[in-house]
Amino acid sequence: MTEPTKYALVTGGSRGIGREICLKLARSGYYVLINYRSNADEAQRTLEGVRAAGGDGETLRFDVAAGEETAAAIAAWQERHKGAVIEVVVNNAGIRSDTLMMWMEPQQWHSVVDTGLGGFYNVTRPLLKDMLVKRFGRIVNIVSLSGIKGLPGQTNYSAAKGGVIAATKALAQEVAKKGVTVNAIAPGFVRTDMTADLDEAELKKQIPAGRFCEAEEVADLAMFLISDKASYITGEVISINGGLYT
Ligand code: NDP
Repeated sequence: MTEPTKYALVTGGSRGIGREICLKLARSGYYVLINYRSNADEAQRTLEGVRAAGGDGETLRFDVAAGEETAAAIAAWQERHKGAVIEVVVNNAGIRSDTLMMWMEPQQWHSVVDTGLGGFYNVTRPLLKDMLVKRFGRIVNIVSLSGIKGLPGQTNYSAAKGGVIAATKALAQEVAKKGVTVNAIAPGFVRTDMTADLDEAELKKQIPAGRFCEAEEVADLAMFLISDKASYITGEVISINGGLYT
């Protein structure tokens, strides 16, 4: 007898950490919904990787910061796949727009907070009911060291990530009885497009492990939290930062 299809949604699955999570979900047998905002070519490349890994999926464009657009895209998908339950969501989409608070324009504040914190709400809320009814779900939020420690030049990003950390802990308590876990992963520096403008040689001197993290290592941690083995871990924020901050 064939197993029923398991569905997972990864926001920001077109590149970086999100792409690696999509590939690993595919290898674990998930049908992967690869969300992206604007980079259709890269999202398509992720989908090709998913298929090359022996899995399947589809790309799904919406801006997680836009509530109505996100709700409409998810509702339309659910309409096209009646009875399908997205049982895993990885809230990974995120942006930086660094500057000192003194110089921060309203747009820099709102875009970063709306994407990171608003995106968590916009994407998670419409998926929650199905998980609760199914009595199984995995919500993994990709946050940051910045949301734990706070980093100068990132008051917007620290606020967004710190907000998601608090929301992770609150939601975990709301849904634990229904078999839904909610956890956050807080990476330090990961080698992706997001950090391409940073001076890696200089920054890695501050990292006890002496190197940046690879996106695949973050994906491995996400996969553990998604697995059945992690069913008693919820409301946690797990750092993956090479000893940078403990
Ligand atoms: P990248 O810049 O490599 O990729 C960002 C991804 O997010 C892309 O797929 C992008 O889509 C998508 N995205 C951005 N904004 C939106 C939006 N509004 N709606 C939908 N999708 C969106 O980032 P990383 O892989 O490095 O980062 C992934 C997550 O990890 C982020 O939340 C980031 O804050 C966090 N993180 C990263 C660290 C690092 O050092 N890299 C450290 C700590 C945390 P598109 O391709 O269409 O632009």
